[in-house]
Amino acid sequence: MLLDHARGEGMVVSCYADTSVVGGFEARWGPPLQQEAREVRKRIADDPESVQEFERQLGLIRESLESAGHRGVRGMAVFGGSKWDRVVAIESEVPFANRLVVNEEPYLVPFLLEELQRPRYLAILTDTHRGRIYEARPGSARLLDELEEDVPRKNRSAGERWGKQQATIARHREECILHYFKDLADRVEVAWDEHLHRGIILLGEHEILENFRAELPERLARQVVAEVPHAWAGEQPAIEDQVARVASEAALVEQKELLAEVGRRLQEGSAVTTGPQEVIQALANGQVRTLVFGPDLGAVGWRCNQCRSLFTTEERACPYCKSPCERADLWQEILARALNHRVDVHYIPADTGLRIPGEIAALLLRDEPQWS
Ligand SMILES: [Zn+2]
Repeated sequence: MLLDHARGEGMVVSCYADTSVVGGFEARWGPPLQQEAREVRKRIADDPESVQEFERQLGLIRESLESAGHRGVRGMAVFGGSKWDRVVAIESEVPFANRLVVNEEPYLVPFLLEELQRPRYLAILTDTHRGRIYEARPGSARLLDELEEDVPRKNRSAGERWGKQQATIARHREECILHYFKDLADRVEVAWDEHLHRGIILLGEHEILENFRAELPERLARQVVAEVPHAWAGEQPAIEDQVARVASEAALVEQKELLAEVGRRLQEGSAVTTGPQEVIQALANGQVRTLVFGPDLGAVGWRCNQCRSLFTTEERACPYCKSPCERADLWQEILARALNHRVDVHYIPADTGLRIPGEIAALLLRDEPQWS
């Protein structure tokens, strides 16, 4: 909805806030956002209607930031629009730098960056009778669901019961474990479908995880990106820290593999393109499967206000339809196009030390022979 917001529908105020608390309950966002608001008022002072609309939206944004429903949230992105009687508020697990942007469309870069920088994984910790499902992102983990079922213990005193009775007990135990695995797999499926996840991480003993994996539906079993040895013991926070760490590692592995694939294809000279204008072209042609970009793309682009074609160099009139072009945030425009086309988008942060050819690269759909 935010990406699709059209220009020409009046004013949009985008607010990013650091809502983590210092000391008691004093908000960090108050003074810096008041300062930003003063600057906006100065800029639009000669247009009383705009000032009035700005104050209306600001009031709604402030209400949202102060509302009890968002207490304990570390970051908030709140958007107000001239045509909306309510704001759109999005909570974040990390604080945003305080910012107030007034434009004709929502300013989404900080929000998209935060989403893409910390991809979501589903982490499943399990043994033979109890499991926990976490949403794991680099730097954070959140318990989504947990499950525990009655499974008889393994009979280790084999000296007393032999033969048939022993076998019956063992078979009953196996059935109970299988039942538990199936229930857990069902819960995993529900969690998987609730959000967009980048992959599944399994934690536990290898042999148990192998058996559980066999009970996952094929479409989920394919998504397992990592298996991590973990004994069911210790404090909860320790497990969550580990899950968050594993998510960071999985993300880095994936980023390296992605860039290796870009490099391989560049050498082959097929199914890849690099650089903003080339990527824009490929997006417009519906050829992009995966988009990879880094942090240094804060450039300005030019967008046709009629056919919405996007250019990296200044174009006063669109070369295609001759309509006027206006300045736009190149980065946000490319991202919006990619997300609207359901392209798999990857952001590679600067601190990984990884370099992207052309600052932005796209893996293209391969032309498959018809008989394949
Ligand atoms: Zn045009």
